[in-house]
Amino acid sequence: MQLTITDGLTGISNRRNFDQKLFDEWHRAIRMQQSLTVIMIDVDHFKKYNDCYGHQAGDACLKHVAALLMDSCNRNNDFVARYGGEEFAMILPETTTPSVVIEKLFQILKELAIPHVMSEFGQITLSAGISIRTPNHDENPSVLICEADKALYSAKNLGRNQAVLYEINPANTAE
Ligand code: GH3
Ligand code: MG
Ligand code: MG
Repeated sequence: MQLTITDGLTGISNRRNFDQKLFDEWHRAIRMQQSLTVIMIDVDHFKKYNDCYGHQAGDACLKHVAALLMDSCNRNNDFVARYGGEEFAMILPETTTPSVVIEKLFQILKELAIPHVMSEFGQITLSAGISIRTPNHDENPSVLICEADKALYSAKNLGRNQAVLYEINPANTAE
């Protein structure tokens, strides 16, 4: 039996493929003593988008977002998946400065300018949470997701349409 590794709607990797890739990259990073970055990305006000433009337009929007995330990656080993619903996740191996990817992502998004009249930004925006780690044997890859999720939560609380880097004992997040 062959397991499905792509998401039916967007055609990019699905959650199962993400979990496998994260596991593999975590252990590779331990061997190579390299850092690993995970970025969790969530579409802002997507429920309102569906309510306003309809579910089919919502589906089309998710396809655009998937494509723009793929376009934002520079390296062959960078990895993008649909994590579930309107959430996406990226794995950037050997990257301690994900800012290049993040800047490109927000730039393309701004240029795409998908109208969203129910949003305070007037167009589709994304919030992102970033975790950068040098993996070790004492922890497991889920720590990256957990930290990126917390940072994403902060990005939402800080007003959406932005990326937040997870920091231990941050001054401005709800820990
Ligand atoms: P926030 O800015 O806080 O993220 O708010 P939100 O509305 O984006 O978040 P919420 O979790 O309230 O709503 C997510 C919406 O995403 C609700 C759900 O119907 C929609 N959604 C999830 N998967 C799909 C899909 O495959 N297609 C479409 N069209 N909508 C989807
Ligand atoms: Mg969500
Ligand atoms: Mg959302």
